[in-house]
Order: sequence, then C-alpha cells, then structure tokens
Amino acid sequence: MSKNNVPNWQTLAVHGGTRRSIYGEMSEALFLTQGFMYESAEQAEQRFIKCPDDEFIYARYGNPTVRMLEERMAGLEGVEDGFATASGMAAVSGTLCSILSAGDHLVASRALFGSCLYIVQNVLPRFGVEVEMVDGTDLEQWQRAIRPETKLVFLETVSNPMLEVIDLQAVGEMARQVDAMVVADNALATPVFQRSAERGADVIIYSTTKHVDGQGRCLGGIVLGSRAFIRETLEPFVKHTGGALAPFNAWVMLKGLETMSLRCRHQAAVAREIGRMTENHPNVVRTYFPMLESHPQFDLACRQMTAGGTVVTLQLKGGKKEAFQFINALKLVKISNNFGDAKSIITHPATTTHQRLAAAERKKLGILDSVVRVSVGLEDQDDLIADLKQALDVIDS
Ligand SMILES: *Cc1c(COP(=O)(O)O)cnc(C)c1O
Repeated sequence: MSKNNVPNWQTLAVHGGTRRSIYGEMSEALFLTQGFMYESAEQAEQRFIKCPDDEFIYARYGNPTVRMLEERMAGLEGVEDGFATASGMAAVSGTLCSILSAGDHLVASRALFGSCLYIVQNVLPRFGVEVEMVDGTDLEQWQRAIRPETKLVFLETVSNPMLEVIDLQAVGEMARQVDAMVVADNALATPVFQRSAERGADVIIYSTTKHVDGQGRCLGGIVLGSRAFIRETLEPFVKHTGGALAPFNAWVMLKGLETMSLRCRHQAAVAREIGRMTENHPNVVRTYFPMLESHPQFDLACRQMTAGGTVVTLQLKGGKKEAFQFINALKLVKISNNFGDAKSIITHPATTTHQRLAAAERKKLGILDSVVRVSVGLEDQDDLIADLKQALDVIDS
C-alpha cells in the first residue's frame, strides 16, 4: 500500500494487516503455535540479534495472527504500530509501567475504570510514582496539575459509567508544553467514533474485549502509538512481563474488526433512541448520552466524536431499591457487568463495578445508588425500547 493511496477505514477493517500463508487462504489464518523453527543455527542467532517484522521467535514476543491484529488496528487508528495484550488491563498496566519510573509525576482523570484506578492509586505509588487526580472535565484543574516534571497524562476519553467527555485537544496541548505523554483509554469512545491520535493522544489503549470482539467471547487489549514507543518502550516491558495476547483471541478479534463499524453504528443509533425515550420517562431523573443535547458536553462530544457510543447511563427516581426493581424487571436486557456485547446488558455500578470505591468517592464521580448503565446490544430496537420501558414503568416511588 503506497502512502498516498491508503484505502478507506472500512476497507482497512477488512483487509488491513492481512498476511497470507503459502496456501493463499481467504480468511485470516490462526497460527496456533508457541514457537517458530529456524533453518540453521546461524538463522536462529541472527533472529535473536534483530528480528525482522515478518519473522517470529516465540509467541510471547509475537505471532503472525497477533501481528495481523496489531497492524490492522494501527492502520485503523492512523498510528504507526501496535502491541496486542492479554486483556485491556494488561495494556493499561503495561503502558503505565513501561513509561513511568520512581520520582515521575502522573496526572490522571479521576473518573477511571475500577481496575485502572487500582493501578494508578494502589500500584504506581508503591513504586515511587507521584500521582495527581483531577476532574477530567475541568480544564483549569488539568492546567494546575500538569507541571514541568509531569511525565505522563492518563485519561479515559469517555468515562465509565457517567460518560463524561474529556477535551483531548485541550489536554493534549497542555501536556505538549511540558513534553508529557498523553495516554488515552478509548474503550467507551470505541475505535469507530473517535480519532484520538489526531486530537493529541500519543498512545491509545483499547480493551478489545469490548467492541472489537463485540460478541462477548474473548479477553484482549491493544496499545497503539508511534513505532519508536511501541517497539522500544512498550514491547520490551510487555514481552518480558508476559501479557501477550493468545493467537486464538487475536483471530476472534480480527474477524470482529470486519463488522465492528456496522455493529457500533447501529448500536449507537439505537442507544440514542433509548436515550430519547428515557429522557421523557417520569421515572428517569436524568439520562446521560454524549450525543443528546441534554449532555453537559454535547458540543465537545459533537466535535470530538462521530456518534455517542453504545452505552446509555440513567439516573432513576429513588435509590438502590428502585434501581434494583428496574433491573430485576428487565426481561430481554441481561444483568452483567460488561459492555460492547451483541447482547444488551444492564449494570448497577454502585454495587458491582464501582463497589470497591468509598461512598464519598462514588458520590464525587456521580455514581449514585440510583444510577444504572445500559450497554446496547444488537437486538431489535423496538424490542429493546419496549423492555426498558416496561421495566421503568414498574418502579414505584
Ligand atoms: C473494560 C475496560 C478496561 C479493562 O479491559 P479488560 O479487557 O477487561 O482487561 C479498561 N479500561 C476501560 C475503560 C474499560 O472499559
């Protein structure tokens, strides 16, 4: 592919990174192998000195199926390279630990996924990293926190579960002034709806467990960025600490990429309709969805994203009792704690994903007992709206 003849996004999602074996298979091959054979002792020696892109040593270092996923996703994100990991958290922890050393200063937005919070607040300080948390939507707080010794800025571009949108361009400019790297966890924005690299992120992380798989089967993650960062900083850390992605999971994710934008666009459109319905329901106090006019950062969301994502968060009337009443009344929507699945999922963050947080911290993040998160799947729109509506009607407060 020549530089000025790059195919469009959806074409890359189907063909990008494909490596064919001598058999010319149409569908991506699953290379279920740990090791790779050498023609001679000399060849083995050479490969250990410098391993070219299309040669492999050991599956913890790289594997042809995994490599296809890395190259396809790097192409979709518009960056030079990627390294796939065993889960989204292996990507997050690998990235942060490969960059930061004792004495470094990290600024992170407070509204992080529970496990990301654990890394930032419990793990990194044990190794001497100074951590400062800010309200990600408040640019003045970012401005105050980012200082000349700041090494890294970490944020979720759309936060979970309250769907706050962070102004990546503004935070990126502040970080660049002090040469700090910006690491963006883009799970909720999805690879489809936001070009984070264009907006100032140096490193983009996905839990491919979510929309890339898209059908709730495999765990996976990926770190995307410049070739220098991926190969010189990230790869040595991840390949030696062991967070490699299994080839089978990579294969599932590769096939997932082919249909990801079709699925996500449909899910996002249905999510918006669900948002509209809930906004007008008497038992809903507030609906959170980035692409509804009622969202506090609607303008920013429109600038930064091409759709609002596949998750809708609701603040219901009442408290935990009413939230549980609603959840238990759902018939089609299943009770679980994932998102980005073909099956719609309802989550009560306060008692599950965010249970570990102190009540005061939850309150600060807006995660009230009356808040529920709806991950919109691929069921029929009318059926989903009917199920959510009948469950909302059940609430008696
Ligand atoms: C799910 C998720 C992760 C972790 O991904 P796993 O694949 O479950 O390890 C990290 N960050 C965000 C924002 C997530 O939603």
